[in-house]
Amino acid sequence: MTLLVLSHGDCLGHRPPDGHPERPARLEAVMRGLEQLDDLVIEDARSVTRTELDLAHGPNYLDKIENLDSAGRLIALDADTHFGPGSLRAVKLAAGAACQGVDRVMKGDTRRAFAAVRPPGHHAESARAMGFCIYSNIAIAACHAAACHDLDRVAVVDFDVHHGNGSEAILAGNDKVLFLSSHQSPLYPGTGRPGAPHADNVRNAVLPPASGSNEFRDLWLEHLLPEIDRYRPQLILVSAGFDAHWRDPLAQLQLKDDDYYWIAERLVELADRHAAGRLVASLEGGYDLQALEASALAFAEALN
Ligand SMILES: [Zn+2]
Repeated sequence: MTLLVLSHGDCLGHRPPDGHPERPARLEAVMRGLEQLDDLVIEDARSVTRTELDLAHGPNYLDKIENLDSAGRLIALDADTHFGPGSLRAVKLAAGAACQGVDRVMKGDTRRAFAAVRPPGHHAESARAMGFCIYSNIAIAACHAAACHDLDRVAVVDFDVHHGNGSEAILAGNDKVLFLSSHQSPLYPGTGRPGAPHADNVRNAVLPPASGSNEFRDLWLEHLLPEIDRYRPQLILVSAGFDAHWRDPLAQLQLKDDDYYWIAERLVELADRHAAGRLVASLEGGYDLQALEASALAFAEALN
């Protein structure tokens, strides 16, 4: 089984200020990990189209981003989300890669695709950049899958250590999508807490700080994987953030490389059972370079 990796050198051109955790070296670390696989094909990511963006973001927000003129400087879109000269190209490739992955698995070219891109997307809301994210990559891909490939049941799975507030907000109430997230709580951005109101197509499950492999696996085995099985998705999309790793500086979970192999293996079983094997993952967080390289490799090994 060959894994299709969609990436692009221009994703390195999005350059937040020095010292920012969401830095170009993250993507280089992920690619170092993926390139250790025996069997993969790497192709250039394509740009997202306006039609695809319109499925998830408001027109005024899209116009604003498209017309931002940084004049060679960095513009702060929120406290920790920046936009510079290479950013528009990078965000279009990051969102485009996820849609391209959907197109390729739906066409039957491959069963599994990994969008190795940055910046991440799952905090970006319909009309707001947030938490390093500008376009909501996986939510755009989910809407694209439902709209253009005529799918009725798309599962969006998010195991990034942070709650995918943007994905949830965009996908809430979409009767062709089920959104499932595990995340540390309390932690940024503070959404997705136990007892918080949510739409019928949203499943949030939380882990307290210092939780490790056993707690993570039990949470998925007891709460989230059975939901996916009952849903019988025709396609599984994954917000693949690797910041629940014990080495990560932005959160306090204690996952190991092998946990990413484990979750990928479980998701592949479900994709094989219900979705003709179709699974598309897109890189979200992960801010320790060593952990990123090893975790991305472990995750992708189980996709292969
Ligand atoms: Zn994260």
